[in-house]
Amino acid sequence: MTAQTPARVASYFHLEEGGARCELCPHKCLVLPGKSGRCGVRIYQVDHGLVTMSYGNTSSIALDPIEKKPLYHFYPGATILSLGSFGCNLRCRFCQNWQISQDTRVVDVITPQRLVQWAKEYEDTRCIGVAFTYNEPTIWYEFVQDTASLIRAAGLKTVLVTNGYISPDPWRQLLPYIDAVNIDVKAWSDEFYRELCGGALQPVLDNVEIAGECCHVELTYLIIPGCNDDSRSIEEFTRWVRERLGAATPVHFSRYFPNYRLDIPATPIATMEKARKIAAKWLEYVYLGNVEIAGASHTYCPICNALVIERGRFQAPQIYAVHGYCPDCGQKLPLIGGMS
Ligand code: SF4
Repeated sequence: MTAQTPARVASYFHLEEGGARCELCPHKCLVLPGKSGRCGVRIYQVDHGLVTMSYGNTSSIALDPIEKKPLYHFYPGATILSLGSFGCNLRCRFCQNWQISQDTRVVDVITPQRLVQWAKEYEDTRCIGVAFTYNEPTIWYEFVQDTASLIRAAGLKTVLVTNGYISPDPWRQLLPYIDAVNIDVKAWSDEFYRELCGGALQPVLDNVEIAGECCHVELTYLIIPGCNDDSRSIEEFTRWVRERLGAATPVHFSRYFPNYRLDIPATPIATMEKARKIAAKWLEYVYLGNVEIAGASHTYCPICNALVIERGRFQAPQIYAVHGYCPDCGQKLPLIGGMS
């Protein structure tokens, strides 16, 4: 383990009798002296106020394909320097990344300047910038914000992969520096959020809409059998996406596998297929992840059904779109960047 950076005073809190009220996310924890909020990262030190313990502390860093975030309509075929810290403000019983999200190990310490420099050095490998991922970027807020403004100044892109569980004000302050987000909508049910994640649905939906006003948005919905896979939820969710963000919004249905504290069996393939069929009534770009189904992650033209981007699990995507247009019918496609 590398030494952690010293604590820094956190943003978005005020002092109350008995503690510090954190306002960064909808939990609005009252953090008592010497204790941390639910995320485990923000601690109230009476002499300093609320401090963040994770500034610059990374648990994992790698150069990933952008498709792995997943972002399918944003610089397809590019790579992105991806990193995470530790901790999370939700407690999803099915967390697919729990070794990081529920842990406090630090493998490296990095500054915003070094991170930007590193991303620049990778530009030869089609690296477009930096993705804050692996754990929840919200609770790394101060580091993400400081770094994102430098990334923008360096002509690179910033991506967030997030649960969307953040208060509206910090979200609106951060988004002008963000180029693309993938937001998890974990279910179409507040009860699911309450019981399986320790959160609430509406703040996430509000933040999806706010993001839609500011940057490129793709959504991920992990389908868990018996929990959030009913046809009505899929239908209402995808219809909502169409109404609030538009039919061209990419939605990724991801297949659940037993993990962390949920041991029900993996999602049947038939359930994934059913979700795609329902969603396709409302949305033009519906993808299936974590499945071996031919064509499930390809992009097709919504007008003539021509293959526009072919994605394989172990190979770079083949892009047939020409300058962002369908090669067959000439339809303009909602693809950002990297189109030859
Ligand atoms: S960011 Fe952490 S401390 Fe602040 S309200 Fe959310 S869970 Fe609580």
